[in-house]
Amino acid sequence: MTSVADKLRFEPTALPASLETLRAEVRAFLKEALADVPVVKRSHSWEAYDAEFSAKLGAKGWLGMTLPKQYGGHGRSALERYVVVEESLVAGAPTAFHWVADRQSGPLVVRYGTEEQKKAIVPAITAGKACFAIGMSEPNSGSDLASLRTRAERTATGWKVNGTKIWTSNAHRANYMIALFRTDPDPNKKHAGLSQFLIDLSKTRGITPRTIQNLAGGRNFNEVAFVDAELPPDALLGTEGQGWRQVTEELAFERSGPERYLSCFFLLRKLIDVVKDNASPATLARLGTQVAWAATLRTMSLSIAAKLNAGQDPLLEAAVVKDLGCQFEQALPGLAQELCELEPTLEGHGSEYQQVLGSLIQVAPSFSLRGGTPEILRGIIAKGMGVR
Ligand SMILES: Cc1cc2nc3c(=O)[nH]c(=O)nc-3n(C[C@H](O)[C@H](O)[C@H](O)COP(=O)(O)OP(=O)(O)OC[C@H]3O[C@@H](n4cnc5c(N)ncnc54)[C@H](O)[C@@H]3O)c2cc1C
Repeated sequence: MTSVADKLRFEPTALPASLETLRAEVRAFLKEALADVPVVKRSHSWEAYDAEFSAKLGAKGWLGMTLPKQYGGHGRSALERYVVVEESLVAGAPTAFHWVADRQSGPLVVRYGTEEQKKAIVPAITAGKACFAIGMSEPNSGSDLASLRTRAERTATGWKVNGTKIWTSNAHRANYMIALFRTDPDPNKKHAGLSQFLIDLSKTRGITPRTIQNLAGGRNFNEVAFVDAELPPDALLGTEGQGWRQVTEELAFERSGPERYLSCFFLLRKLIDVVKDNASPATLARLGTQVAWAATLRTMSLSIAAKLNAGQDPLLEAAVVKDLGCQFEQALPGLAQELCELEPTLEGHGSEYQQVLGSLIQVAPSFSLRGGTPEILRGIIAKGMGVR
């Protein structure tokens, strides 16, 4: 009989020592490339968008690393990619342009795309020239994604799409979107009526993104209207009606990386810098606990990278790390305020530490929404373990 422990496993994984050469190379590159980027901008990390930086990373061979060579990828391991991603996040590199493409769209196209789709997309991702948007959420269909209503209907020339997506990060500046649409309106086919599409945004009329300002003043995400948008027949990604299974796999890529506990890491480092010289034993103990928490999350996250490397789908493990990583990250601004009396400030005012704290206090609440809420993740874990 399969036990609960068999369904949720974090095998200890160590990074091979040979990867330290790669780490040193990436670190040296980032030090130079980011020398002039203000610290507060670096704390925006994977939400900061810089197409030029992404192209430079692509030129170094550090994007599309795990994608097959035959399509223009680099055929390297998930652990090698892990080193690049980890170093980029810790340094606060602006990764938003290539982030989605490198993390989930590329692997998804390789898994489900046609030969033509793979040959067209993978080289652009590897070069850091393809920005992807994720077209999943809709008004009233966030956690309950399968209730989405945007409709793709077959026509004589391909597909016609009508509906609205929301919270679509970077849709206003992306080259492509992978979107989930309803291809069968039969109410009895809630999950089976969904299909994924690969959309070239530059070639499609009838798609209008409108940026939405978030509470911190940023304009990263959008409401995207599809009005009689016409897609060619080959825009279908994978199999019609299999969109739910495909999107579930895509979400495992989306939730499995170290970004789920490293978006506030910059603050932890700055906090340690600021308090270390005059820290009381109690402060050191609190910081030590936080660092131990980070180290544990890293071990778990590495174990997921090893599973991806072995071709497995670590859906449950990814949900666990996303949930725990989010708790770790959201606790950091509060810890900083508890251990250091310097007040948070807005960008351009106060010390670097104060600006980073001010910036992260504003955005941290969103961490438990993006990529799935704690309640939904725990539901997935419980179901996967057979206890719900
Ligand atoms: C910064 C950011 C970037 C994003 N980028 C994208 C993107 O690029 N593409 C995209 O498609 N989406 C994106 N999203 C949307 C994100 O995926 C959704 O916000 C998320 O799935 C939650 O959906 P919702 O906002 O509709 O909240 P709801 O689903 O309405 O949830 C509201 C609350 O109710 C709770 N809840 C809902 N259902 C249940 C249940 N069954 N049991 C218990 N509790 C429940 C939730 O946990 C939550 O606390 C982004 C969100 C953020 C914050």
